[in-house]
Amino acid sequence: MNFLEKYKKEFEEYDKQDHDFIDDDMIWAQLNKWENPSREDVRRVLKKAEQCVRLEPEETAILIQNKDKTTIQEMYELAHQLKEEVYGDRIVFFAPLYISDECANNCLYCGFRASNKEMHRKTLTMDEIEQEVRIMIEEGQKRTILVYGESPATNIDFICESIKKVYSVKTEHGEIRRANINCAPLTVDELKRLKEVGIGTYQVFQETYHHDTYRKLHPQGTIKGHYRWRLYSMDRAQQAGVDDNGIGVLFGLYDWRFEVMGLLYHTIHLEETFNGVGPHTISFPRITPATGTPYSEHPEYAVSDEDFKKLVAILRLSVPYTGLICTARESEHVRREVIPFGVSQIDAGTRIGVGAYARSKRANQLPDMEQFSIGDSRSLDNVVKEICDMNSIPSFCTACYRAGRTGEHFMKVAKSKFVYNFCIPNAIFTLKEYLLDYASEETRQKGEEVLKNHVEKFRGEPVYDIILEKLSRIEKGERDLRL
Ligand code: SAM
Ligand code: SF4
Repeated sequence: MNFLEKYKKEFEEYDKQDHDFIDDDMIWAQLNKWENPSREDVRRVLKKAEQCVRLEPEETAILIQNKDKTTIQEMYELAHQLKEEVYGDRIVFFAPLYISDECANNCLYCGFRASNKEMHRKTLTMDEIEQEVRIMIEEGQKRTILVYGESPATNIDFICESIKKVYSVKTEHGEIRRANINCAPLTVDELKRLKEVGIGTYQVFQETYHHDTYRKLHPQGTIKGHYRWRLYSMDRAQQAGVDDNGIGVLFGLYDWRFEVMGLLYHTIHLEETFNGVGPHTISFPRITPATGTPYSEHPEYAVSDEDFKKLVAILRLSVPYTGLICTARESEHVRREVIPFGVSQIDAGTRIGVGAYARSKRANQLPDMEQFSIGDSRSLDNVVKEICDMNSIPSFCTACYRAGRTGEHFMKVAKSKFVYNFCIPNAIFTLKEYLLDYASEETRQKGEEVLKNHVEKFRGEPVYDIILEKLSRIEKGERDLRL
């Protein structure tokens, strides 16, 4: 069967519908209605946001359209406060692992697209995956996201095999404990198989929620040309029991204000359809230049640093219990600015070519043929140190996923702020492991200070003695301790 034919029946079902949950005209009507909100309007929304509840579209539209410096500053301050309240003073670390750049689609902005003749295509073999994973573990990684193009080379059998391979690699210092996936939309049956092999988060970015723009950038005759097949991919994931999901937008393809509204409508749709369970994470990459991809050099709706900062804070205020991921596509300067008021996950020590971890170890390497260029190429150790300098805890924690605290359960935990009691101690344990097993002397000293400060905050609470006991066991050589 031809590759496109495989999903044809399902596309047709979606394509027949006369509408979906993104109504372009309504979104613009809401944005236009609040073209110039007053300070009182903005403060009314901030008052509600203080309660750590998900905002309604009109409320988010008010924040988006706010151009008043004083109340924008208030937005930043509240976003920072909510981040601390819901997520605590920690940042979760991961690193991507590019498995294949073979792709049958033709997304105008992407270096992997089929028509890009400058790209040398490569899908890792199982042995090569093992080699990459060993290097990542040696560097201190515990969480990864596997990235695939969409082609027969990376069908569901291959994806499942590659996940199993990642989990099977054990070294003296441990293993990858959580493998997330960023791949094409799948059927319910395929998603059930991903669940069986133990994926963490299943990520699919809509790229743009704007129907006409989507059509323009994703040519018909490709799988990705089907907007709704992609839009409902998280519904199918939930139906398959994959309840830990990540959505996202590629900023720069259309007006950022519309896209933020799209992310909110997507969240509301999932919450309303699946018993309050919205996305676990939202990603908000900005388009960056990719090899052989003229569109990516001059995106039509490039987002300025100022607007980027604002949109991160607005997402934090609008969906306070959804994780926000800021990747190394952004420069270290921008990441440093946005982390405090919203971001809960970052990647570090990132290499984004297929086979790039091994290649970067070899001398005289050729420049990568990359999907896009990277903004923050510092080592994991450097970024860990920087987060410690901010007196935040770099976390490699995978406890919730492994204890089954995902989906509905995780939402309840997050909403009721129990995150603080599980996540901070677990972050402390994983940082301790990192400092003992991988850190440079400078990072170790900084990290120990951060640990001391944070452990002290629990003094007088029942969990205090448990934390001390586990830290002492880690010092003696035990690993993977968690609450
Ligand atoms: N093929 C799968 C898909 O399209 O969903 C997953 C892999 S794709 C490489 C992962 C993501 O990379 C895309 O969803 C897109 O948002 C992002 N991406 C593509 N081109 C990019 C560029 N030029 N700059 C930044 N991100 C880009
Ligand atoms: Fe392929 Fe994904 Fe790139 Fe589109 S974004 S060309 S589907 S890898």
